[in-house]
Amino acid sequence: MARYTGSVCRLCRRETMKLYLKGDRCYSDKCAVERRNYPPGQHGQGRGKLSNYGLQLREKQRIRRIYGLGEKQFRDYFKEADRQKGVTGTNFLVLLERRLDNAVYRLGFANSRAEARQLVRHDHFRLNGKKANIPSMLLRPGDKITVAESSRQIGAISDSLEALPRRGLPPWLELDKAAYEGVFKNLPTREEMNLPVQEQLVVEFYSK
Ligand code: SF4
Repeated sequence: MARYTGSVCRLCRRETMKLYLKGDRCYSDKCAVERRNYPPGQHGQGRGKLSNYGLQLREKQRIRRIYGLGEKQFRDYFKEADRQKGVTGTNFLVLLERRLDNAVYRLGFANSRAEARQLVRHDHFRLNGKKANIPSMLLRPGDKITVAESSRQIGAISDSLEALPRRGLPPWLELDKAAYEGVFKNLPTREEMNLPVQEQLVVEFYSK
């Protein structure tokens, strides 16, 4: 799938919810969803009730856009979640949360998942002391993520750390701000993930 290069705020408006794709702006009154909470386009305000399929599709798009993934990659996570024991929807969200770029964002080292992905690709992090520049690396309980020593002066990282209290640190992660180090303590539970999405609709979407 081609990479989306348009306005990311448009994606939030399409999903009629804040997906927090733009860092600081998402918490200001400049947020496009705060200003115009209806889908973009000529028929944005006139769309009727969605069919079951429409609801499933929208929920799938919402979650995919929150994590900033392409369709194929997203579907592959679903297949993997479906193979695992337990509740497929929860397994699916846990897999998404285990991505290195997501943990970098959640720990406050980046203002958005897109920024986290770029910082990871540019080799600014270490995983258990070793080079880690692949955003899709999956974390295991006990894994340590550290900002590379030479990258600790980067403004984007320190500014993001300052802004972390605004969104809070999830309970499955631990942060030592002074040491620029985070730990992925355990796999999150569904309740801990606190995501306003209905993953069951995605399971239904892909189970047809
Ligand atoms: Fe979405 Fe953030 Fe843009 Fe608001 S400012 S519409 S939350 S990306």
